[in-house]
Formats: sequence, structure tokens, C-alpha cells
Amino acid sequence: MSESTLSLSQLEQKQDFVRRHVGPQEAEITQMLESIGAESLEQLIEQTVPAGIRLPEPLKLGESQTETEALANLKAIAQKNQIFRANIGMGYSDTITPNVILRNVMENPGWYTAYTPYQPEIAQGRLEALLNFQQMTIDLTGLPLASASLLDEGTAAAEAMALAKRVSKNKKSNLFFMADDVHPQTIDVVKTRAEMFGFEIKVGKADEVADLDVFGALLQYPGTTGEVRDLTSLIEAVQSKKGIVAVAADIMSLVMLKSPGEMGADVVLGNAQRFGVPMGYGGPHAAFFATRDKFKRSLPGRIIGVSKDTRGRPALRMALQTREQHIRREKANSNICTAQVLLANMASFYAVYHGPDGLKTIANRIHRMTSILAAGLKDKGVELLHNSFFDTLTVKVADKDATIKAAQANQVNLRADLDGMVGVSLDETTTRADLNTLFNIFLGDDHGLDIDALDAKVAGESVVADELLRTSEILTHEVFNKYHSETEMLRYIKSLEDKDLALNHSMISLGSCTMKLNATAEMIPVTWPEFGKLHPFCPVEQAQGYHEMINELADMLVEITGYDNLSMQPNSGAQGEYAGLIAIQRYHESRGEGHRNICLIPSSAHGTNPASAQMANLKVVVVDCDKDGNVDLADLKAKAEEMAENLSCAMVTYPSTHGVYEQGIKEICDIVHEHGGQVYMDGANLNAQVGLTTPGFIGGDVSHLNLHKTFCIPHGGGGPGMGPIGVKSHLAPFLPNHPVVTVPGTGENNGAVSAAPWGSASILPISYMYIKMMGGEGLKRASEAAILNANYVANRLSGHYPVLYRGQNNRVAHECIIDLRQLKDASGVAEIDVAKRLNDYGFHSPTMSFPVAGTLMIEPTESESKFELDRFCEAMIHIREEIGKVERGDWDSEDNPLHNAPHTLADIVDDNWERSYSRELAAYPVETVKRNKFWPTVNRIDDVYGDRNLMCSCPSIDTYRD
Ligand SMILES: *Cc1c(COP(=O)(O)O)cnc(C)c1O
Repeated sequence: MSESTLSLSQLEQKQDFVRRHVGPQEAEITQMLESIGAESLEQLIEQTVPAGIRLPEPLKLGESQTETEALANLKAIAQKNQIFRANIGMGYSDTITPNVILRNVMENPGWYTAYTPYQPEIAQGRLEALLNFQQMTIDLTGLPLASASLLDEGTAAAEAMALAKRVSKNKKSNLFFMADDVHPQTIDVVKTRAEMFGFEIKVGKADEVADLDVFGALLQYPGTTGEVRDLTSLIEAVQSKKGIVAVAADIMSLVMLKSPGEMGADVVLGNAQRFGVPMGYGGPHAAFFATRDKFKRSLPGRIIGVSKDTRGRPALRMALQTREQHIRREKANSNICTAQVLLANMASFYAVYHGPDGLKTIANRIHRMTSILAAGLKDKGVELLHNSFFDTLTVKVADKDATIKAAQANQVNLRADLDGMVGVSLDETTTRADLNTLFNIFLGDDHGLDIDALDAKVAGESVVADELLRTSEILTHEVFNKYHSETEMLRYIKSLEDKDLALNHSMISLGSCTMKLNATAEMIPVTWPEFGKLHPFCPVEQAQGYHEMINELADMLVEITGYDNLSMQPNSGAQGEYAGLIAIQRYHESRGEGHRNICLIPSSAHGTNPASAQMANLKVVVVDCDKDGNVDLADLKAKAEEMAENLSCAMVTYPSTHGVYEQGIKEICDIVHEHGGQVYMDGANLNAQVGLTTPGFIGGDVSHLNLHKTFCIPHGGGGPGMGPIGVKSHLAPFLPNHPVVTVPGTGENNGAVSAAPWGSASILPISYMYIKMMGGEGLKRASEAAILNANYVANRLSGHYPVLYRGQNNRVAHECIIDLRQLKDASGVAEIDVAKRLNDYGFHSPTMSFPVAGTLMIEPTESESKFELDRFCEAMIHIREEIGKVERGDWDSEDNPLHNAPHTLADIVDDNWERSYSRELAAYPVETVKRNKFWPTVNRIDDVYGDRNLMCSCPSIDTYRD
């Protein structure tokens, strides 16, 4: 049919975004269906998804919008946000994202589409950027060991409390102290955590801690109202009684001030946002966390360490993973999985670009402006709460409301939650004109103050005591002193990007991770100033655009999940689990059943499930799985019955972590409900449900949705993410609230689980755009295509590798597991050899050894075309042939390309190539690789060496010399 015979609406339909998002085009879909023996997509879905859980009606989400339409509509909404000067402080400051970082990192798919660096040989770029982040944290905090980012300052403080409890030698105390000049949202997040753990909390004047018997204490530096004071003696007092002291610190002030580490703190944490990451109405930003070397096994989150590769060269990897949830499960230090890698990288690049001198200039300029403001106000008789400050003044005012109003009339937001006072915080974007506006606000337009005259007056005289000024060097490592011209910086960023395999190179078939398209149109709004420049605690009236977008997104997600309410607060899937379990516990309590404390979790569950249950103080009881990978119903029934008295909930994943639609899911829900328990349905695998079924319909009471999996937020190389939770109405009163900005529709006194009321609000436009551009039909089509792709891959590979689990009609859901255990027994070739050999073919490995050791779990997602799936399958089949050669003894068990994978250029150009196979076979195992070769930059990395010789800071240059 020629185009001219089509109707206008047919022509329009052909321009649909859905066709761009879904990889296989019509003709390919037909071929793929044929190859798996299904007549149509509808028939495939009927064969795959149990009839009992199919939605009777299509999703009511409207028609799909084109990219142009959706962007224009969202722009109109965004423009309802009002951008005022954000002088609120409280842990968030406006910042200038260097453009070279904005365009080449934040807006660059080479950085934002990568996954957590579980395969370090193809991730050395972001591992280096994260190591820089750790080095920067170490230098600024004055403590020797740092992690590679946590979710926000509030949760980092809660992690510090948990660490204190683990390591404190004061075993008899159950009391954790927080100074009353800690940011209010931090206090609230810590309180929520303490309540679950059953810790006592005391909030009081910082000095009170000296007289208390605590296992730990949290202080803020500078205080939330701006005061800079010496904490040394307080820290000593707590430590003399075996308590642990954590200090939440402002990262910019640390450039100029003596570090809390030098004052003796055991932990220093904070928000790295103002190092070039937009405020974004609350996030995402990276929290930093540093502690003493002796607490390394207790550190929460990811740590990057230096190890060596098989050529003996330094190589980076994630260290000490045995502390983490995916290995230690309910005994893990924390439930952190997705963190804030992209934002940590941006902050570290900010430090690299500015270097120590540039940062000192920025910090000193901010401080000078604040000193000028203070001097001007004092000249005119205005009283300040503190006389020693860095960038924040707390100003006593006669009429607070009038001052706040006067500020708003000048498009300025001041801190408004203090009695009879307002707070004003300056930042690197503050100009002389802004200073003048602030004088006008406090003193009226005819103040007659002259900024230069004030400057001359304050220059040389410090409001900070000499002993509180930094004398130690920062950022002396070469990386922070080399890339200060834009050309050099551009090339440094690019050189790191080139070391990493991201979605802009090839498919990343990580099972359970849903590495689908992150469309450019979805990403564009994230860096609009209308979304980036809002402070999370600005008046709600100024954030109308945000609230319209958030509410509409929440409504759409409610429709997609079959729940009644939604909380946008949790910043990751694991945080969603934690928030959902809290809601469950509060619900039980409200019914006088607060004693319920058993959480049933199948052995196949994701590690975050048991780790989150532990954080909610639940006792984990493991339920067996049967030989098909399904939850063993008899075991579940027996345990639910036996523990009915104390059953809190069961956590189940659907489709199961094995990639199968379990037939027994409704029965599982019924059994748990019959015994008084609630069903937590892990929604990370929602990509196989959207438009086909819903967790609410199946019988869940609460689920988290990983917006960074199913709803297109990119993984950022290990974060950001968003893990909102959907709940049935009976749990809605127990969703998190916030102490500074009230979240409508939930209980008044509910504590917060994140520092910001709507979590990482600035990445929600991504999911919003996705749903708008797909529409109800398009979303269903995406789920169907995801299932088609997985079945196509399972089918193509099944002649070569056993496919471990299948559901009804021999179909898999949206992912499939191939079993390498028999091959390993026969050939000695292990799953890790296959994973690394895939790098030589230009691919990232599928998920290794989860949920079953010795297997690979492949999730192709709907976004991969048949062309790409075929390339991947051919690589896998070719590797199977290679394994055969080892198996038959044609190849030596060690001197073979699998054992030695991945191969680097250094191998290929080595004058002493003495392998029994050719260089060509090593690097170009199949013809198609030649066209687009990806070179891993290091050889296989020695994990054991790295953990034994832990080194988490930048190595000296000498290490890189041969
Ligand atoms: C990814 C995932 C999680 C954890 O989500 P994060 O955002 O990484 O914390 C939990 N459960 C399952 C099944 C997952 O795949």
C-alpha cells in the first residue's frame, strides 16, 4: 500500500513513539512468533500468563502522545513551577553545574545508561570517577575510608546510627542522641529508623550529650542554623564512654573548615549535592559517608577498591561485597542496592574540574558574601543568632511573616520554619545583586549599604576561630590538579566514558534489572531549569508544576498497579521495601497486633527483601522453593499456619525471580491473608505485568515499583533510582510523611523514610514522559514484546544450553535462566568465564548466579530488536562451541580464550603472545565484532587480592608505572 492511500490518522499512527520504544518491528515480530511457534502475540500471552490473573479491561491511560506533543505538554506543566532564589539552606544549595559536566555526563547516555559496575573489566571509567568521589570524601571529611555514595543525607545518618550500634563497645546503651541543630528532615528519617529498630532517641542541645550514656550520637557541622563550633570536646566526651560520634557536614564548608575527622569524629556524612548537582526539588543527589578503617566491614553501601588484573596492572572493582545485601541478606549492613552513582560521579567531576584552588575560591567567595551580609545587617542593628558561620545566617526578625513575604515579593525564599527568626543561606550562584536584594528585604530599599565598603571591612578578619580553619591540604592527588581547562576536562570525561560498556554500545541483558531504552525525549525535561532549580522545601505554591506532574504520574501508576494510593518518597527499590514494611507494621499496630514480627521470604528472593525486613525489625523465615523454582506451597502453608500468631507478612516477587509466572500466586496471597499477614509483592519485575495484570489484582497489599527498571529511568551506572510504593487503601494512612513539607493523604505523624518529601522528584518526568508517549495500548505492547523477546532468546539458546525454569506451555515470562552447571562439571568452564568471554564479543554479561548459583539470567526487555537479540544469541552459541572444545580436550583447560577472557589490547599487542590460540580468535571471535569492537581496558581482576589488600583511595601515580 502506498503512503498516499493511507488516512491521516493512519499516517499519524506510523509516527508513534511506541514503534521506537519497542525494538522488534512488525516484520520481525512475525518472524519471531513463527520461530517460537506462536500464531500471534495474543496467543503467546494467552499461553504464558495464567488466565486467572489476566486483567479483564485495558488500562485507562489514554492514547499515546508523540514525542513532540508530550514534550510540549510537559513544558507547559513545568512552567507552572516558579524559580525563586533558594536561600533556604537546610542541606540543599543552588549550584552551577559546569556545562562540560552537564552535557558530557548528566546528559550523556554513555554515563547514564550503564549499570552498577558488577563487571568491572568493562566499567573502569565510572569506577575511577567513583574512586575520585571516595578520595574527595576522604580529603574533605578527614577520615580514611569512604563509600561510593548513599541515597541522601537523612538515610546516610540513619546508616550511621546502625553502624554505631554494630560497632559501639557501649553494648548496654540503647540510646542514640541527636543534636537539635541537625537538619529537621535528618532527625525525622533517623527517628523512623530508630523506632523500627527499637532504639531510644534523645534530641537536645548538642552539649547535653556529654552527660548521657549513648551508643552513638549525631551532630551537625555547621549546625542547621549556621553555627560553626568546635566539636572536639563533645566528641571526646561521647567516646570516653564508648559511644560512636557521627557528624553530618556541609561539603562546601569542609573546603574551608577544619574537618570533623580531625576533631575526632568516627563517621562523617552529608549531601554532595552542592558540588554541581541540581537541587531538583529534592533529588537525586549522592550522599557521602566516611569512617575509620577499623569499621570497614560495617560500612553501608558500595565501596570501590583498587586491585590488580591478571597482567598485574592496577584495576578497580567493588570491594568487600560480602557485607552487602545480595550476599549477606538479612545479616547485611544495610539494604542498599541502587545508590546514586551518576550524581556521585558528577560531584567528583566537579571537584576534578575545579581542583583544590577552584574549590577554595568558590567556598571563600560564598563565605565572604555571607560575612558581608552579616556585617551589613549588624551595622544596621539586626541581631544574628550566631556570630560564627560559614554560609548560613539565622536572623532575628520582628515580624517573621512580613520578612518572608518581603523576600517572596523579591522572588527569594528564606528559611521559614524557625520561631521569630529566618534563615538565609548563600551559595555559589549568589551575586552582588542578590546581596543587595537581601539587604533590601531585611532593611528596606534605602539601607544605603555599599558592598565594596563592607567587603573592605570584613576582609582579613575571620568570623571563624583560627583553630576551626582548615590547615590540612585537600585534593592533592594528581587527578584533582590536572584537568582544569575545559579541553582537558572534556577529554578526561570522554576517556573514562570510553572504558565503559553502556546501552549506547550494545544490549545489557541483566535479568531482574530491566535495561530497556531510556529515550532521549524522556531525559530532556530532567535538565530543564523549571525542574532542576527548585529547593525541596520551597513553598508548595511555587511547585505547582511539580505537583501536577507528580499527582498525574501517581494516578497513572495507581491504574497500572491496581492499588489505591502511592508514596513517591522512597529513593530506590530497597527503600520502597523498607517503607512498605513500615506501613505493614504500623497497620498491624493500629489494630492492636503490633507483636506480629515474622516475615516469610522464599529462598529465591532478591537480597534486598531480607535486608529490608531486618531493617523493619522483622524476623525472616525462609520458605523453600520446589524443583521448578516456585514457592513450595506446602512449606508456605505449614509455616504460615505454625506462625499465624506472629505472622506479619510475606514478601514475594511476581513474576518470580526465576522469570516464571507462578500458577500458585493467588493461593500464596490467600494463605498469607488467611493467617493475618499482609502480602508485600516485590514489583521490580513489573515489566512483565504492565497492561496484562496488576499486583493489586493478584492480591498484593503493597509493592514498590522500580521506576529505574520498568519505567525508563536510566540506571546511571548504579543509580539514581526511584522506588515509590503502591498500597491498598487500608495501608494508605501509614505511608511516609515529612516534617518540613506535609505530604497530603497520609498520617500526620508518620515519619519520613527519605530526606525529601517526594524523593528524587526531578527524575519523575522520565517515567511521566514514558507513560504519556506509550499510552495504555503501547504499555501493553511493551509487556508483550518483552515476553516475546525473552521467549525468542530462550528458544534460540535452548538447543545449546538448558533453560532452567519454564512456566505453563513451556513459556518463560520476561526473562530466562540458562544453566551452566552441567557444562562446568564437564568442562571446568564456569559462569564467570562465559560472562567475561561475552565482553570479547562486545556484550555485557547477563545476571550471574542470581537467583541460582552457576546460571545466567537473561532479560532482553522489549527495547531490543531482533537484530540485536540475534547478535547476542550468536555470541552465546559461539561461546557454547568454545566450551565444547574445552570439554572435548581440543583446548587446554587453562590456555583457552574462555579462561583468559576478557582480552585487552595489551594482550593483543604483547610481543610475547604465547597462547595456543590466535590473537584474532581472542579479540575477534566472530566477524561482526570487527565492525564495532569494544575493548575491555583491564584483564580479569583479582577479587581476593582486592579484598585482602583493601585500598579505597586513589593510588599514587607510581602504581601505574610498570
Ligand atoms: C532491583 C531489585 C530490587 C532492588 O531495587 P533497588 O532499586 O536496586 O534497591 C529488589 N527486588 C528485585 C526483584 C529487584 O530486581
